Amino acid sequence: MRLSGITPSGHVQLGNHLGAIARWAAEGRPEDLYFVADLHAMTTPHNPPALRSRASEMIAILIAAGIAPERVFVQSDLARELGALTWVLECTCSYGEAARMIQFKEKAKSGARLSLLTYPVLMAADILLLGADEVPVGEDQRQHVELARALARRFNLTYGEVFTIPRPVLPWAGARVRDLAEPARKMSKSNRDSAGVVFVLDEPDLIRRKIRRAVTDTHPAPAYSPDDRPGVSNLLEILGACTGMPPQEAATVYTSYGALKEAVADAVIETLRPIRERSLSLLADPAELERIRKAGAIRARERGEHRLSSALRLIGAG
Ligand code: ATP
Ligand code: MG
Repeated sequence: MRLSGITPSGHVQLGNHLGAIARWAAEGRPEDLYFVADLHAMTTPHNPPALRSRASEMIAILIAAGIAPERVFVQSDLARELGALTWVLECTCSYGEAARMIQFKEKAKSGARLSLLTYPVLMAADILLLGADEVPVGEDQRQHVELARALARRFNLTYGEVFTIPRPVLPWAGARVRDLAEPARKMSKSNRDSAGVVFVLDEPDLIRRKIRRAVTDTHPAPAYSPDDRPGVSNLLEILGACTGMPPQEAATVYTSYGALKEAVADAVIETLRPIRERSLSLLADPAELERIRKAGAIRARERGEHRLSSALRLIGAG
């Protein structure tokens, strides 16, 4: 079983959709689970109402994109189980092991929340509670999955067999969408400057304006050359991801930047339109969204609670 999460650190952007969510909707195996990692968005200063509304938005988008509602849950709906298992795992983890995490070393400064140190242990709890054996992660999260793996092994050896040993797997290498205004960097939901970020719920007119303003280059015509012409190559790749047309071919079809940008805007707007419409109608029906959320939480809890109770019993609690 694979487990993938997405943190509501910002609004869902086009890269999240093309690079992850669309793939999850198309290819996930029925037992795979996807979750909105809202507890992980609290390790740095945050705004509670904004976090709550982004988590709702995210769950609506996952379902609107076609992921079966029974495969989706919100992390904080399992806060009690995850909190308890995090404690058990913190009692299985040494301080040095947590402090060695590269992300912690990079981000920690005085005044940092303690949770910045311990969040990899919560991540281990996410994985181990649900018994995931494969965790698709990028290079930046690999070390955290290795920690989950080490803690699972240690717990099983010390106290008794409870946990499936997870391993990091490479996520599908799909479209890597770059920021439209700064093509040197990837598009990110937490980017403070959103001029070059297309959000899944942006209105069509706004999407078109952002794409029209996308940075290209001074060559006379579009061509696909990602290393030296990242801006225009990004547009060609986005078009390819939305329409299936290979970027090299698109470069021969659209011979002016203006025509290319209009085609990209049309393709992105049409790709996102059904998702935006379904998301907005779900968000307009909070009772339905709440029902889906509760059902997802119940199913996830049912899958995990026997591991939590075994772990508590074996470690000497209760
Ligand atoms: P943050 O700024 O908080 O890191 P993010 O937009 O980078 O947000 P993540 O939560 O890090 O999003 O990643 C969620 C999923 O979206 C991951 O599977 C990641 O690989 C994918 N993803 C994120 N950005 C892009 C992008 N620009 N192109 C393709 N895939 C992306
Ligand atoms: Mg990221």
